Amino acid sequence: MTTPEAPSTEELAVLRQRYRDERERRVRPDGAAQYRDAETEFGYYAADPYAGEPAHRAPLQDSVDVAVIGGGFGGVLAGARMQQQGVRRVRIVEKGGGFGGTWYWNRYPGIHCDIEAHVYLPMLDETGYVPEWKYAPGEEIRRHAMRIAQKFNLYEDALFSTAVTSLTWDEASETWLVATDRGDTFRAGYVVTATGTLSDPKLPGITGIEDFSGHTFHTSRWDYAYTGGTPEGGLTGLAHKRVGVVGTGATGVQVIPMLARDAGHVYVFQRTPSSVDVRANCRTVPEDVGADRDGWAGERRDNFLGIISGEPVDKDLVADRWTSSAGLLEKLLPSFRRQGERKDFEAAYEIADAAKMNELRARVEQSVTDPHTAEKLKPWYRYACKRPTFSDQYYPAFNRDNVTLVDTADTHGIERVTENGVVVGDTTYEVDCLIFATGFSVGTSGILSGRLPVRGRGGAPLLHRWAQQGPRTLHGFTSNGFPNLIMMGSLQNASSVNFTHILDEQAVHGAALVAAAEAKGALIEPSREAEDAWMAVLAEDAPDHEWFHAECTPGYYNREGRGRPNGPTAYPHGAFAFHRFLRRWREKSLGEILQAKTSSAAAGSGPDQRKTG
Ligand code: NDP
Repeated sequence: MTTPEAPSTEELAVLRQRYRDERERRVRPDGAAQYRDAETEFGYYAADPYAGEPAHRAPLQDSVDVAVIGGGFGGVLAGARMQQQGVRRVRIVEKGGGFGGTWYWNRYPGIHCDIEAHVYLPMLDETGYVPEWKYAPGEEIRRHAMRIAQKFNLYEDALFSTAVTSLTWDEASETWLVATDRGDTFRAGYVVTATGTLSDPKLPGITGIEDFSGHTFHTSRWDYAYTGGTPEGGLTGLAHKRVGVVGTGATGVQVIPMLARDAGHVYVFQRTPSSVDVRANCRTVPEDVGADRDGWAGERRDNFLGIISGEPVDKDLVADRWTSSAGLLEKLLPSFRRQGERKDFEAAYEIADAAKMNELRARVEQSVTDPHTAEKLKPWYRYACKRPTFSDQYYPAFNRDNVTLVDTADTHGIERVTENGVVVGDTTYEVDCLIFATGFSVGTSGILSGRLPVRGRGGAPLLHRWAQQGPRTLHGFTSNGFPNLIMMGSLQNASSVNFTHILDEQAVHGAALVAAAEAKGALIEPSREAEDAWMAVLAEDAPDHEWFHAECTPGYYNREGRGRPNGPTAYPHGAFAFHRFLRRWREKSLGEILQAKTSSAAAGSGPDQRKTG
């Protein structure tokens, strides 16, 4: 992991101290409580700016084979993989007015995915689609979600602008009763939850935020009626406006250059600078990515996952800044297989980390002409403390006369919002429009949030069952007492920066479970012993990352500075190995999770009415 510019021992000691000082400057006593939920506390964020008011429809009281909660890539892939297994009636229930999930809601100017499109967009082999760009714009990604949905007939049964409000297991029919906020109460043989991880926008609890009388919105609810233009730019409505942007995370880094180009003046309110690496976007040459061969996309995606999971691979097909920095991802997500002795690994890791961050700080100096502004834009923390970002337009935006960087680190963020502007230190910055690029509540959507009550066997609420010992699952997908419930996401399995790959493997797995249960006329339900055994697998070799995140700048990776607790939260050998493990388990052990139905339900009116292929 060493690089030619490896820092000396003395330089490392200086850096460690600098990082500690910067962290202390930023930690706030209120931690995660500093944020407010945009939807529940600011009603106007609950509206869907893209679909408008949903059309009236009669509530449904029918039956389907599978209900999927969430129409992002997780839900769409679950539906597609079910269809491939011959399960015909799949109903996706989605809050938004269409498919796409995060790509449905996030349509801000400049939106792209910074994971290479050829590995990020799933089912390229199956759909024959070749992305136009190495890093795809959001609209191309959203359209791809729609393409998959179209190909696998998922529109037919989908319910849009609808939120599931409860799931209740009905013992008599051995089916799930699904209730929604549109009055539906329908039955499903199986339920898949694919509710996403970054779906609830959050706002900082800044004093006076409600008093601002100018225009305001969150980046995930972009108001093009006000700004004019499209995600490609042309924001003519802002030409003579003073715009404030709060937040310089992955979203801020993409949106700020677009605002700089089109707005009268832009004030960037920064609390912690992101690390911003080279992006180098380019048009796709299909032969160069191997798209003239069958199976090219799957091979490329596995290659990427192998590299960022720390597996030895022969070649680097994607060859970008994610793959070249793969060694530094060990602390980012529980997805990296560490090679060698821990002590040696940590020493080499720190050197490589410092060299990388020095390179990124030098990039700021090379790109930003005003030395004072450049100094403020430098990230002083270890690479894996914050989500890395990638842009070739971000730093040059600060060389424009109409862009002002307002650093708020010393005041722990913006101090106050007034009727006309934003107060930082002694200065009030008057703005016409205030845009919040302040991110999302992490892990609050879906069944773990408590906002979607799930009652299993005997009416037991899922969160009660998990209250004492925490969540208990087999492979993160299924839980004892909750038959035919398949959970997708980041719970007790494995994750990766290329999350659509993770979701696709989960969808394949979920569909295989359903197909096996259908073939046997059985229920999917792990025993408690199987759950215990899985928890033991997770606990053994659980990575020791607590100390690392305790020393990091605050953010959602470390519960706003409180550290990331160790514990059996994920498969300890990385995502690549997890997928291999699941494939083997499906071949050899899948039968163990199938339980006999009670005879009354098997002969009754529930699942047997469903038609599966
Ligand atoms: P983040 O949570 O990453 O960033 C929020 C920003 O708001 C931070 O800069 C934060 O500062 C700032 N902020 C919060 N409160 C205040 C305050 N009171 N005053 C000043 N600043 C404040 O949200 P993003 O939407 O940027 O990104 C969320 C996630 O979405 C990413 O981590 C990534 O996983 C994903 N994403 C992926 C993209 C891709 O290309 N694949 C693109 C965009 C997003 P501080 O750091 O100090 O807390």
